[in-house]
Formats: sequence, C-alpha cells, structure tokens
Amino acid sequence: AQERYASIREKPATTKCGKTISLQMNAGLMADLPSLDGSGAEGVGLFRTELQFLVRNQMPKRSELSALYTRVLDAAHGKRVVFRTLDIGSDKVLPYMKPNDEPNPALGWRAIRVGLDRRGVMRMQLQALIRAAAGRPLTIMFPFVAQYEEYRQARAEMDKVLAREKKLGHALPETIEVGAMLETPSLAFAPDKFYEEVDFLSIGGNDLKQFFFAADRENERVRKRYDTLNVSFLTFLEGIVKRCEASNTSLSFCGEDAGRPIEAICLAAMGLRSLSMRPASIGPVKNILRSVDLDGVRRIIEEARLRGDQSVRPAVMAYLQSQP
Ligand code: PEP
Ligand code: MG
Repeated sequence: AQERYASIREKPATTKCGKTISLQMNAGLMADLPSLDGSGAEGVGLFRTELQFLVRNQMPKRSELSALYTRVLDAAHGKRVVFRTLDIGSDKVLPYMKPNDEPNPALGWRAIRVGLDRRGVMRMQLQALIRAAAGRPLTIMFPFVAQYEEYRQARAEMDKVLAREKKLGHALPETIEVGAMLETPSLAFAPDKFYEEVDFLSIGGNDLKQFFFAADRENERVRKRYDTLNVSFLTFLEGIVKRCEASNTSLSFCGEDAGRPIEAICLAAMGLRSLSMRPASIGPVKNILRSVDLDGVRRIIEEARLRGDQSVRPAVMAYLQSQP
C-alpha cells in the first residue's frame, strides 16, 4: 500500500485551499519505527509505552526501558517522538499490578490515575525517558488527564526527577515538552491556566468519543450508533480547537479516526492541523487531503448543522463525489 503512495511520500499534505496538515504516525514497538521513513510520517505523534509493560510478567527495569527508548529515538533520526507515559487499566491490565475488581474499568483506576498513585513507577519511567533523551529533545505526554491538578502533579514529578538527574550529574535532554492527552470531556472545560501551562494537547479520539456519547468503545452494539462525524461531536471538537487557538496551545488528534480519510478531512475542516495515525493510513489520508478544498467541506458541515443532520457523513460524501 505504501508503494501506491510513494509519489507523494515526500510531499506535504497541503489541501487545495492551501492548508498544510502535519501527518504523524502512531507506534508502540521498535518494529514500528522503520515505517517512519516508509510512510512519510513527519514524526511519531503517539508512542504507546504500555506494550513493554504488558508483554512481561514483572515490572520492566529502568535500564531496559531506557535502552528501548534510546533505540526508538535513534531510529527516529531526529524526528519528533511523543512518548506517552504508561496507559494501563481498563482493557490493558498488567498481570503484576492488577486493580481490585472494578465494576467499570473504563471509568476506573487507569493511566495517569495509576501513575499518580504509584509514584515509583511513574518516576522510574520518567527517569528512563530522560536518560534516553540525553542531549536531544524529549517529548512526554500524560494519558487520560481529567483535570488540571493531575497534569500539575505529573509535571511537578517530572521536574523533581529532572532536578535529581541533574544533581546526579547525568546529561539532560536538550529540550523538554510536557503535554497531555485530551480524552475526557472534562478537560475541554479545564481552566484557561491549564491551556496556557500545558506544552501541547493531543485528542485521544477513541476515549473522548466513548465518554462523550457514554458508549463503550469495545461494545460494537452501542459503539456503532454514534458516528464520529456526528454534528454534536464535531461541534465539541471545534470548541477545543478554538480554546487551543486562543491560548496558542499546539493541538493534535491521535485516535483511530485520524486515519480514516473522510474523518481526517472533517477533522481538518474543524481546524485540526496535526493528525497521528497508523503508518498505513498516512498515504491514503495525505492523498485525499491534497485533493480537497477544506473551505468547501467546512461549508457543507455548516449546512448540515443548520439542517439539524445527525451526522455530516452523507452530506460530505455527496460533496466529495460531486467534485471533479
Ligand atoms: C485514544 O483514546 O484515542 C488513544 C489514542 O489512546 P488509546 O487508544 O491507546 O486509548
Ligand atoms: Mg485513550
């Protein structure tokens, strides 16, 4: 599939109306890294670090993690890699760190909540990341942040680890960005101060959609009722885009929907300028973005909203088919 799009691999995802969308790839294994060049991705917009924890039956050692993160950064040849800290719980349970039985694991003890309650684990991972990135840029993202205070505490932990590393005489990263995933609706309404403080935000569309519609992302029966292109959801996303524009916060979208061509077009039409997806989706998404007039799509979405359509999908599909 990547060969089919080889001719546009080095070209930007610039639309007919002149807007350029940054396309990044999602990864989680060392084996994913060769796709960085093959797919034409600008960087790794989401590196899911939990896989290394899930494939073992005991907690990995800091030195093992650090060695892996070093190899990932080496393989990225200077392209930006967004390392997401451990996102476990819900569907991803570690055999050596099980929560007590939870009636609703998706709403339970997971991700940053685990990190903040088990500071040793969080510190160990942050230390491994800092050491791996010595002398080069480091980008860290905390998952499932639901309120400002969680981000503040995680960031303070990061600063403490950094200070300690410095005291121990270790080389520090050249620059550090600390972002958060926006995947609970609450964070869309967090105080302005949060938006000003956070270095960047990335929308986790899979979880955000699940919580927006109160529909389990693992449950086909309810999940399929709610289209990502539902007008209410797009309006909600647009509100997040506007807040980020107002506070000059860099924003991307890294859920699976970013890799679906029609969804990607609509996300771009709502103002998103950075999308992260499976490597195989980059070619098709770039191809369609390069052929589209986002202002036109935007107009179609506006009309659908005024008509009270449930989803903009039929109108956007019809519009795309009508284009030469
Ligand atoms: C998401 O929720 O959209 C996301 C990117 O994270 P994950 O799918 O790993 O929960
Ligand atoms: Mg998520």
